[in-house]
Amino acid sequence: MKVTDLRWTHVSVPLQAPLLSADGVSPATVRRTLLEVETDAGLVGIGEIGPRVSSDRLNAARGTLVGEDPYALERLRSKLHGSRFYQMETAILLAGIEMACLDVQGKAAGRPVSDLLGGRLRGSLPAIAYVYRRAATERAAAVSTTEHVVGHVAELVERYGFETIKLKGGAATPEDDVEMAGAVRARFPCHRLRLDPNGAWTVATSLRVARQLRDCDLEWLEDPTMGLDGMAEVTRRSPIATATNMCLVDFHELSSAVIRRAVDVMLLDVYFLGGLRGAREMAAACGAFGIDVGIHSGGAGGAELGVAMTAMLHLASTLPALRCAIDAMYHHLEDDVIRGGLLTYRGGELTVPDGPGLGVELDPERLDRYADAYERERRERTRREPDPSRPGWYPTYPAW
Ligand code: MG
Repeated sequence: MKVTDLRWTHVSVPLQAPLLSADGVSPATVRRTLLEVETDAGLVGIGEIGPRVSSDRLNAARGTLVGEDPYALERLRSKLHGSRFYQMETAILLAGIEMACLDVQGKAAGRPVSDLLGGRLRGSLPAIAYVYRRAATERAAAVSTTEHVVGHVAELVERYGFETIKLKGGAATPEDDVEMAGAVRARFPCHRLRLDPNGAWTVATSLRVARQLRDCDLEWLEDPTMGLDGMAEVTRRSPIATATNMCLVDFHELSSAVIRRAVDVMLLDVYFLGGLRGAREMAAACGAFGIDVGIHSGGAGGAELGVAMTAMLHLASTLPALRCAIDAMYHHLEDDVIRGGLLTYRGGELTVPDGPGLGVELDPERLDRYADAYERERRERTRREPDPSRPGWYPTYPAW
């Protein structure tokens, strides 16, 4: 089998509300790029990447891919990576192309992608309530105070059945984040609870927060501070386990992380690690050094749509060492580009599709609608403030 073409479609899909983090306020939409790998066997594989891969890079990838065998993933990894030193854009592109090639392979074999990765150990995965403070929209009030956040968590738990809650910190002061975590813990004494300020704190602030939240029974404190050395210091002195998707994101950082005992949990990002197979390789390496693993969401720039989300589910279903709920920004989406629309949560879990390949298909009508939305946004795009409510403000790290 040979690849005959690579096509891509940029889309812009609405979020329920703009999300607040240490970086400021997110756009009201998520921008993604859907890939279609065509083959001479008549099979088309689909993949998904974030907005950080340029059209130049996609054009170059098409030149590399056409004429290649969609089973030759190792050769493709080398050819697409080339001799350049590490670049995140390349890793994201690799992940999307691997996703589409695995979809082709699965369709050819009549087997789901999870079977190509070693076979699934579970048919569904518990996912998190991924809780952000949110900006007001025409339809919904802002989620900004602790009281708002607790109410918002209650709605999510009620609606989806989540048993793990991740609070996005760093958008307000550490004192506000401590109050927020304490109030959510008081309201949900039996849920697993994480706090992630995205590296917005110094080591000293991180340790102060960790001491204040000692009795909050956090599952982990996620990226309280930036860098392996800082994280190692927090991990050594904090009473709470630490997790990262920011200071250990590639293989060349692993030995330093291990030597420093920098983190307790590594959140595998299929994009940072160049695809599903790279994520499995990292999971195995982490296991050898006693680092737990989870699944990260949002690495390629915002919420994953149904193509990437199902790819993450296939991966997660095959990991024997996965002991925690997977990250998924998915419930923030208003719609999807796959047939049937949004995937359904059942009892806080997302189901791994059974069909061949990824088990989902693009919906041409939705794809067109959100491609039009992308074009409209592109034409209208003006300079974006990181936080429109604070003109002139820009993020600094560490903020506190
Ligand atoms: Mg994180």
